[in-house]
Amino acid sequence: MTNTVAPDPSARPPMVPLATLLGRELRGSKSEKPVVRFGHANLAKRGEDLFLIKPECIRVPGNSSSTFSVFAIFDGHNGVSAAVFAKEHLLDHVLSAIPQGISREEWLRVLPRALVAGFVKTDIDFQRKGEVSGTTATLVVVDGSTVTVGCVGDSRCILDSRDGVVSLLTVDHRLEENAEERERVTASGGEVGRLNLCGGQEIGPLRCWPGGLCLSRSIGDTDVGEFIVPIPHVKQVKLSSAGGRLIIASDGIWDALSSEAAAKSCRGLPADLAAKLVVKEALKTSGLKDDTTCLVVDVVPSETVSLPSSPRRNQNKFRSLLFGKRSQNIVGKLVNKLSSVGSVEELFEEGSAMLEERLGSDFPCKTNSSTFRCAICQMDQAPNEGLPVSPSPFCSPTSKPWEGPYLCEECRRKKEAMEGKRPSATAVSR
Ligand SMILES: [Zn+2]
Repeated sequence: MTNTVAPDPSARPPMVPLATLLGRELRGSKSEKPVVRFGHANLAKRGEDLFLIKPECIRVPGNSSSTFSVFAIFDGHNGVSAAVFAKEHLLDHVLSAIPQGISREEWLRVLPRALVAGFVKTDIDFQRKGEVSGTTATLVVVDGSTVTVGCVGDSRCILDSRDGVVSLLTVDHRLEENAEERERVTASGGEVGRLNLCGGQEIGPLRCWPGGLCLSRSIGDTDVGEFIVPIPHVKQVKLSSAGGRLIIASDGIWDALSSEAAAKSCRGLPADLAAKLVVKEALKTSGLKDDTTCLVVDVVPSETVSLPSSPRRNQNKFRSLLFGKRSQNIVGKLVNKLSSVGSVEELFEEGSAMLEERLGSDFPCKTNSSTFRCAICQMDQAPNEGLPVSPSPFCSPTSKPWEGPYLCEECRRKKEAMEGKRPSATAVSR
């Protein structure tokens, strides 16, 4: 095969480290799809945790080999209706933002921004109902050995790779722990502070006001403010041919257990037992204080795949060096850094709350010669009814004026409200 120089610099593949290339060779493109096994456990306190398990989704209608699996957790607050709504609609909204008739590689490549579009559409549609609750949402798509995770809130998803390296695939959108999010919320018109008791004493975690929510991103929360955005952090990784285990859980687990502790507590057990054990382990420390939900998903190489020998011993040595000195507070950071030396290949990660950055320059917006499709809600419109999300950066001198991510009137209003550039409908009515 010969390579020709691509005229468009963005189309040129990025430089790939040798280790990654070797990893790809080992993984082998011809290997059979890994098997996905899963289990769940949940204990309700308020009944606001919901989960979704859809193991046999089909990417290409009629093609049974194009299956992928979806797992999700929705931890509702202030009522359960946002969690119910997200469970019912989020996946459909994500999938409807993916163009038909594209290859598996393209499908995986557009999935991160389809997650952005789907999360935002779900939020807009829920807000339209005029109900006040909110929910975290962590949506995990497993296609072969590629795992894509979109999340708002603090329902964490961790990966325990077969090398024994634990990494976070989500970011906790908690005001207390996320300085970047505090800045964003403040800049967009929210106030961040602790609950004030009568005597002036401040208690509890940092919250945003009005509303008093501890999270900086969610679906719903119409009554809190548009600065609580539904734009997900998205991470996409490719597991090694040895597979790995995903643990997706609500904060009932993570308030009691570190990522490492949760992974360790259930190693070696089948997924269904593992999920039960993680919940049991979390309750051991503090009892049932909150809704507690745990999904365990094992991506297991199919029997026909011959396993390459993994550099297990060396990595374990490296881990013990680091974890021997860890302190509780920096475990997350260490764990995250370690993922770059493990055999897991990071394909994509983006957490910005700016829609322009998330929708990309080549979002397929044009349906035919006369209409444009909104990059968020997928509605077709005549070009004079909306505007490109940002006219300048995405229009090369040669392109037509309407090329680039296109937003309809309503989605553009939502975008500006999220950035604090105009009052939301709810802020006006308050
Ligand atoms: Zn729209």
